[in-house]
Amino acid sequence: MAKVIKVDNGNGTFVFVKKDLKGKEDGISLCSQCPKRNKDSRYSNCHISNKIYELEMLFGLKLPVLECPSYNGEFEDVADAKPVQVEKDSTEEEV
Ligand code: SF4
Repeated sequence: MAKVIKVDNGNGTFVFVKKDLKGKEDGISLCSQCPKRNKDSRYSNCHISNKIYELEMLFGLKLPVLECPSYNGEFEDVADAKPVQVEKDSTEEEV
């Protein structure tokens, strides 16, 4: 089982994190390689990423994306990959 540590998140709040994953959100998140992400503008940023950011702010979380049906960056096609059905929120804009 991974060791969990308690650290300051940089904003004066203490959070718990698996020690080996501390500070590695960008390295493991698909968003860091996706052209839909624009960290500089929430208006042109991916709508999914904006929702994730809202959750992060609301609960003090870090939420890297490990799987995403809307990823638009480079990828390697895998022959045995199976499609994933995702229901769309009718209030979301198409990106
Ligand atoms: S489409 Fe998916 S991978 Fe790309 S920025 Fe949005 S949430 Fe991240």
